[in-house]
Amino acid sequence: MSARPGLLVDRDGTLVDVHRDGETGTVHTAFHPSHLRFLPGVLEGLRAAKQAGFTIGVVTNQPGAAKGQVDRASIERTNAALLSMLEAEGVKVDGLEACLHHPDGGPGGDDSLVGPCDCRKPKPGMLTTLIATLDLDPARTWMIGDTGTDMEAGRAAQVRTALVFPSGRCELCPLRDGPKASADVVATTFDAVVAEILRRG
Ligand SMILES: [Mg+2]
Ligand SMILES: [Zn+2]
Repeated sequence: MSARPGLLVDRDGTLVDVHRDGETGTVHTAFHPSHLRFLPGVLEGLRAAKQAGFTIGVVTNQPGAAKGQVDRASIERTNAALLSMLEAEGVKVDGLEACLHHPDGGPGGDDSLVGPCDCRKPKPGMLTTLIATLDLDPARTWMIGDTGTDMEAGRAAQVRTALVFPSGRCELCPLRDGPKASADVVATTFDAVVAEILRRG
């Protein structure tokens, strides 16, 4: 059996937008199914990748429960809802890995999730897990994300890297990552990133 080409995809800022609370004006990552909004080009890009034979995995850092901001069940419910929404749109995701850990935690955080781990990006643990369980060929597998942390995790897992970098973005700007944000492919939307990946074969 030959290993398969894969896309390993970040969640927040890559597949779905951050959630803006209309009343308080605060910005945070989605922690309820109702917060999930696909970013432009995501469904088109995922469908194109599926059609081209790519296996799809999601790899996401979700430290909210470790930091005491949300409970673990909310994170898991939101991830499950994301997969259901994608499947309803014709995109079956083959695997999802979430790192629930945080090195320092926070007030009221879940102590069992606080401390060092091998899965929190930029570490490659979630990527190498999916490469093994989904039987992916690292040479034909890409990490797609919106930050230098994602690109670093991709390099550490020895897969190729693709950065979605919308023009005009300033909020939570990944440029803060500086030179670490270098990637094999950079484009302004998810579908443009996938088109370039398919072009490279
Ligand atoms: Mg992200
Ligand atoms: Zn972890």
